[in-house]
Amino acid sequence: MGMKKGVTILSDKIREKITTQNIYRVFNDFIFPMISAEEREFLREVEDYMVKQIEPKIDLSNDVYGLFKILGKKNYVQRLNPYGDLAESGKYGMRYELLLAMATSIVDPELDLARVVTGVIFGNPVFKYGENEHVRKILDQVLKGEKIGCICITERERGSDAVHMSSKIEDKGNYLLLNAEKVYTTNGPAADYFIVYAVTDTENPRGTMYQVIVEREFEGVETNRLGITSVPRVEIGQSIFKNVKVPKTNVLGAKGGGYTNLFTGLVAERDAIVGSSLGVAWLTAITGLLYTNLREQFGQRIYEFQGVHLPITQLFTELMAATELGLQTGHEYRKTLKYPNNTDIQKYNAAFSSGTKFLASNLAHKINYEMQQLMGGIAFTDNLRVEKALAVSHIQEVIGGSRNIQLLLVSRTLRDIVKSIL
Ligand SMILES: Cc1cc2nc3c(=O)[nH]c(=O)nc-3n(C[C@H](O)[C@H](O)[C@H](O)COP(=O)(O)OP(=O)(O)OC[C@H]3O[C@@H](n4cnc5c(N)ncnc54)[C@H](O)[C@@H]3O)c2cc1C
Repeated sequence: MGMKKGVTILSDKIREKITTQNIYRVFNDFIFPMISAEEREFLREVEDYMVKQIEPKIDLSNDVYGLFKILGKKNYVQRLNPYGDLAESGKYGMRYELLLAMATSIVDPELDLARVVTGVIFGNPVFKYGENEHVRKILDQVLKGEKIGCICITERERGSDAVHMSSKIEDKGNYLLLNAEKVYTTNGPAADYFIVYAVTDTENPRGTMYQVIVEREFEGVETNRLGITSVPRVEIGQSIFKNVKVPKTNVLGAKGGGYTNLFTGLVAERDAIVGSSLGVAWLTAITGLLYTNLREQFGQRIYEFQGVHLPITQLFTELMAATELGLQTGHEYRKTLKYPNNTDIQKYNAAFSSGTKFLASNLAHKINYEMQQLMGGIAFTDNLRVEKALAVSHIQEVIGGSRNIQLLLVSRTLRDIVKSIL
């Protein structure tokens, strides 16, 4: 449950100008030169749908999950994979996913956080590795927005060192027996399906890791909500699996395959988070640009003060650069799909996606924090979406691996590059 909506103190004159539609208009002026004609058409369609169908249904005192079905109607739960009729239209892939994430974050940052988890972080491995009819049905329900997915990697004692997990899974012939406690599961307390990683031998996690789908109805599944105040409309929890019997139809990665799937999946996960980070950054940057051009103090528009327009301009130039880089992850991702066995390309993109994820999420936080200070009190209220965007940007920097872990992955590549000379 969220918080009750507060009173409106923003003047009518300004409120009428800072609409989602106007924010999209300004956003398009910035982003259209960077994208293709087909991508522009797609973005316009998404924006139109968000304004007409999603925005009127947003209820800040309720969680976001009711909105999934509305996204599903237009196949907007994700755009990474060619689900449904997307293969024919060609309007899918990481660049489309990034555009969808930006447009969704602009209208509702919390909704996009939850959407990326169900649509990409859950949806992508199921799309790639789920071959039987039962799992395809699960995918169908999730990508239509009728059911909710989540992913369980992190444990109480194993965060950044995710590989050395203690979650246990045993092959019992007809089924697998799972015993695990996972934490920080985004969407977990609301989820119908859980992708869970566990190992047979904790001494050999790489060789014995499984990736399975657990269903809410399975006996021994329990979820409890964590108190994470920054995103009250997204349920983040503890997921307990006690002697859960997992049928073999629900295996996505069998013994050892779970490890490979985990690591290849992280690139898509990081890239998708880049889209959300850019979205919350654009939301606040444009809100601030409009607001400071409308708000007056000391007899003039506050944007006229050098102390306001120069820092805002700096934030915009940084955001333009980060957006170009972010869109480039779409091209790089396509290369990794085209050359799955080329280790140079795979390695390059592991580092590229980590570096970009660090940069975009860190910048999103900076833009939200700085712009809030440049705008003043109104940016702390729910009259605008700045405070929500700031809160989501906090989380984006830690999910998919903390800042230090992204930098660690890049640093390994830096070392490899100079190794031949040393
Ligand atoms: C809101 C939220 C949502 C999340 N959603 C999910 C989810 O849906 N599914 C899921 O599985 N997990 C999720 N996570 C977990 C998230 O991925 C972890 O929090 C993250 O990987 C870090 O793990 P940790 O919190 O245990 O920190 P730790 O691993 O204990 O690390 C703590 C700090 O130590 C430093 N550090 C650790 N190792 C190194 C190193 N090698 N080099 C340098 N510094 C290091 C870093 O600064 C790090 O922040 C979520 C977390 C949050 C807060």
